[in-house]
Parts: sequence; C-alpha cells; structure tokens
Amino acid sequence: AREAAKARGAAPAKTRDGTVIAVLGNIGGPADAARVLEYGAEGVGLFRTEFLFQDREQAPDEDEQYEAYLAAARAMDGRPVIIRTLDVGGDKPLRYLDVPQEANPFLGERGIRFCLARPELLRTQLRALLRAAGSADIRIMYPMVSDAAELASVLRFQEDVRRELADAGRAMPSRVQTGIMVEVPAAAAIAGRLAGLCDFFSIGTNDLTQYVMAADRGNAAVSKLCDSYHPAVLRMIALTCEAGKAAGIETGVCGELAGDRLAAPLLLGLGVTELSMSGPAIPDVKETIRSVDMEACRALAAKALAAQSAQAVRELLHVHA
Ligand code: PEP
Ligand code: MG
Repeated sequence: AREAAKARGAAPAKTRDGTVIAVLGNIGGPADAARVLEYGAEGVGLFRTEFLFQDREQAPDEDEQYEAYLAAARAMDGRPVIIRTLDVGGDKPLRYLDVPQEANPFLGERGIRFCLARPELLRTQLRALLRAAGSADIRIMYPMVSDAAELASVLRFQEDVRRELADAGRAMPSRVQTGIMVEVPAAAAIAGRLAGLCDFFSIGTNDLTQYVMAADRGNAAVSKLCDSYHPAVLRMIALTCEAGKAAGIETGVCGELAGDRLAAPLLLGLGVTELSMSGPAIPDVKETIRSVDMEACRALAAKALAAQSAQAVRELLHVHA
C-alpha cells in the first residue's frame, strides 16, 4: 500500500481543467527531506528550523546551520526549499535562551518578534541561510508577521546581512525569494500591504485558526471552536489569496489543513496555489486535486464562505467528495 501511495505521489497535481498546484513537503530537519521526496514532494514548503535548536545546551552556530540548510536543499536535488526562521517564544521555549515568562505566551514575544528582539540570533541564522542560498534554491520565510513596519524592519535587517556577506566576497544571489507566514489575523487583514513587501505568502492555518477563533490550539476544552473549517477562518484565507493575486505573488498553505484531502478543493477554490504538508499526506492530496476542476472548486468555496458553521462546511465537502 505504501508503494502504491508513493506511485500516486509521483505524478503532478493538475486539475481536470489543467491548473497545476505545487505540492510540497513539511520538514523538521535535513533527514526528513528524503522522506517527503519519496512521497512526491516537489520541494519543501516549510522547514521548521526550531528542531535544530531544541534539546541541546546552546544554539547551533552559523556553520552548523549552514550545513543543515544546505543538506536539506541537496537532498531535494534542486527543488525549492522554503526555510522558516526560528519560531520560538513562551509557548516553545529553549532552555539556553532567556525566554521571558509571559502571562499569554501565544500573544507574546514569539516568532519574528522574538528574533527581532535578539538580533545576534537572527543575524547568525540569516548568514547561514543566505550563504546556503548562494548555491541552492533556498527561500526565506518569516513566522508570526503582524505588521508592515515589522516586516519592513526584518527585510532591512536581512538586506544588511546580505550586503555584509557580499562585501566579504561570498557568492550570493542578488535576491533571495523571501515570504511570510500569514498566521495572525492582522496579517490577513493587511495582506494587500504586506504583499507589496514580499515574494510569497504561506498561510499557517494552525495558528491562524487559534487566533481568528480566540481558541487555544492545544486546549481540549475549546477544540470544537478551534476548527480550520470555520467560515471565519476561510474568510481570512480568501482575503489573503485575493491580496496575493492582486499583487502577483503566490499564496500557499502550510498548516495542517493543507494535508487534509477533503479540504483541497475548498482551498483551491479560495485561491490557494501551493500546498505543503507531511510526506504521507502528499499522494492522497495530489490524487484529489487531479479529480477536481477549478470552476467547481470556486463554487464550493463560495458556498463554504456563506455557510453557517464549520460543521456545515464539513457537510458540504463530504457531499462533494
Ligand atoms: C501554522 O501555524 O499553521 C504553522 C504551519 O506553523 P506551526 O504549526 O509550526 O506553528
Ligand atoms: Mg504557526
């Protein structure tokens, strides 16, 4: 069965009417790259670098990070690899960093906020990423972006680091594709402005759902509300895709929803053009995409946006599956 799944993963995900959707893999380190590739990943849509930093006594230095990023890219054999900068904070602490105790860690100094407040940490990671991008198709992605000035500031910082490396004679592409996670409602609300500053969007439906619904993604008592099928979440996805399209940039999804084969027609209909997921989810999602056509997906998305509840959306999807 596993071999059959891999065979289904190998062919591209092209809808019946000919729209090609990029299907990528989520990884936590270079060792996972071979695995997502086996299942048919066309690249890496999310490399969660926090795994490189966890369960150790100090942060990996620039060379260790460089080797890890390059190893992932080499394993993907020329395919694009989107690497997310360190996404930690009060909810994902690291023992060797002075992570503050916060009353509301999910609303605190996490993701890009955490890194901007620790420029040496960010600088080391960006040096490693940019050096690796000198010889591979590596793209940089920032988590938890919520504000245009914040994005502008991290991009300025990145450009300073790039220039410093180029001045030191390093082989460096003049532009490294740089995008953001859209996982905070504020980012979806101002997606038009953010789209003008970056090269791609990747929607993090795990965090986006918990923030839109104000329901902790890890709290069982509110798990019914923390549902990515909720029309409020779908509205945010639609807004993001519309803004991305208007600005001419791609919008992908890299949260759990991307690996849910039932959700695929809905996401396509909302305007998503790339999906990134765990390896084993790839073959089924690709097969689902090959069975749909875009006009039906758009009609389905319109119905889902107008639905009363997450449950009503789920029923719609089962009827269409
Ligand atoms: C997300 O929030 O959907 C996401 C992909 O990031 P993480 O699950 O690592 O927070
Ligand atoms: Mg997230």
